[in-house]
Amino acid sequence: MDNALAQVMPQLGRTYPPIVNGQTAPTAATFDSLNPSHRQQIVGRCGRASVEQAREAIAAAKTAFPAWRDTDPAKRADYLFRAAQLMRRRRFELAAWQVYECGKPRREADADVAESIDYCEFYGREMLRLATPRRRDVPGEENSYFYEPRGVVVVIAPWNFPMAILCGMTTAAVVTGNTAIMKPAEQSTVIGAKLMEVFQEVGLPGGVVAFLPGIGEEIGPALIEHSDVAMIAFTGSRGVGLHINREAAEVRPGQQHIKRALAELGGKNAIIVDEDADMDEAVQGVVASAFGYVGQKCSACSRVILLESVHDTFVARLVEATRSLKLAPAEDPGCSVGPVIDADAHQRILATIEKSKGEGRLVYAGDADSLKDEGYYVAPHIFADVSPSASLAQEEIFGPVLAVLRARDLDHALEIANGTSYALTGGLFSRSPEHIARVKREFRVGNLYINRKITGALVDRQPFGGFKMSGIGSKAGGPDYLLQFVLPRTITENTLRRGFAPDVGATEL
Ligand code: NDP
Repeated sequence: MDNALAQVMPQLGRTYPPIVNGQTAPTAATFDSLNPSHRQQIVGRCGRASVEQAREAIAAAKTAFPAWRDTDPAKRADYLFRAAQLMRRRRFELAAWQVYECGKPRREADADVAESIDYCEFYGREMLRLATPRRRDVPGEENSYFYEPRGVVVVIAPWNFPMAILCGMTTAAVVTGNTAIMKPAEQSTVIGAKLMEVFQEVGLPGGVVAFLPGIGEEIGPALIEHSDVAMIAFTGSRGVGLHINREAAEVRPGQQHIKRALAELGGKNAIIVDEDADMDEAVQGVVASAFGYVGQKCSACSRVILLESVHDTFVARLVEATRSLKLAPAEDPGCSVGPVIDADAHQRILATIEKSKGEGRLVYAGDADSLKDEGYYVAPHIFADVSPSASLAQEEIFGPVLAVLRARDLDHALEIANGTSYALTGGLFSRSPEHIARVKREFRVGNLYINRKITGALVDRQPFGGFKMSGIGSKAGGPDYLLQFVLPRTITENTLRRGFAPDVGATEL
């Protein structure tokens, strides 16, 4: 990893224009992607695609679609298997880019590359599974049920899993035979460009994937509203996701289909700590879930619900464990808490912390002062005695801020845990089989974890995604995910023909 960081360092500051139809497309304007650990450092100058370029990308994707749709699914899957191989070879280098561009500590950056590899492998194999038509033939009649791609898919991704989420949505789209336009988040554009490099290096045909860096508010509407777009795969914030869902429902002039929108959104995830929980495990699990990648995960724990009898002990131990975390630039091998993503996030989280002082008792406030001139650092903060209805316990913060809530008993804990508009991840630390069984039944979230941290879902082993306001769509890395990118069709043929096929002579009679 040291070598990879050293090798990438001199490459910082290069320019990354859009790539449409396999060709780089210069832009009139650019924007800079900065290293959040060292904000003076420019990681890349990114092309700021225009609305016109967004439309060109859609036109190119539309043109490329029929040939790609008719390409053998096994061949399409093979591109993904080769992309996985290439990413394995470039594993440390790709992780190094994430350390610099997104302030991801080394281990988390590596995990993101590993997840990208898993998506390529898993969706490739899933496509092979789905490629065989289901047959229900009876004498005189053949019935075939099979899947066909939808068309042009717009992929809009967040910055927090900068390669994995972009890679997962895009590979799902293309392996099923759609053509895709990748719009990375501004803050992780260079990593998007690296993913595009991988796709180009394995020889994915030009029109199949376009790389379209730019400002969401500028090119987003042109992409979402276009009548030739069949589907939008979005992961990001609730506000933008709901907006996209609404816009996708609108039928525009010339549009002959109903658009499909997938939206993987946020969470307000809770861990319940039971009276008989193993405290060593629970403290470690809560700290890792709440402060890993500075809490900037949709799966992060932002509420811990403590049964009355363990409350004070747990809080004391939680505070000490959090104090031991090392705040440092992401490239530092000892870093456990790096920077937040950018200046906006920095300001927003600090303002939330100030406001939260009126909503709970601040029991721990880390200090990021020593690094304040270097980058966008916010140290962990823990608030106790937070009311379940307080905004601190209801709104996603997406930063290192943890709310501690008291519960009288397990009933009360479950009521609090389920009492938000989100349903993404959740957890329980307990040694009571009865309580474990009950929480499995009654804690209604997409991904529930018992006696372990609630982040770090693995592709295939723990398909990932939520419901309620946490999104619409089937779980990423799960057996139903690819089905969202296809249209099922049935063809029935009557094979009991009567008479002879008319030939030229017959029709002339
Ligand atoms: P945003 O919603 O701000 O941005 C996500 C993407 O949407 C970016 O590419 C952004 O572009 C784009 N965008 C912004 N405005 C528009 C628009 N009007 N039209 C079209 N596209 C637009 O989210 P963040 O990047 O800040 O990501 C954090 C959020 O993502 C959190 O809420 C988190 O919970 C959620 N998330 C959910 C996951 C899940 O699986 N459920 C996983 C990971 C994150 P630009 O960058 O140019 O603004």
